Amino acid sequence: MYFIERVCVMYRFIKYFIYRFVKNCIGFFDGYGSCPNCGDRWNWKTSGSITFEGDCSSSSGVMVCNECLSEPPKLVVDRIVKDLKHSMWPQNEIESVKMAINTLKATHT
Ligand SMILES: [Zn+2]
Repeated sequence: MYFIERVCVMYRFIKYFIYRFVKNCIGFFDGYGSCPNCGDRWNWKTSGSITFEGDCSSSSGVMVCNECLSEPPKLVVDRIVKDLKHSMWPQNEIESVKMAINTLKATHT
């Protein structure tokens, strides 16, 4: 019985990954952008945003999926920063984003 249980867990795991992969492929070919943290595309994930104080004290936001946003400990600063650099964000804004993410992580209990 134990063996069957293990196979079931593995099957569910693999199915989840294939399912996710297929959905992300569809999103990719439809030209959707993706969550900088987990890489899932906007065709099947809803987006939230990490708000931060930008220039001229206007607040701006970085788009991250709601799933990642609901679990700040899972946010990977380096991964998000890499994505922002790739999108040519100015360095000072990237610093603000880093600060906002760290605040989010610190305030999450
Ligand atoms: Zn995400």
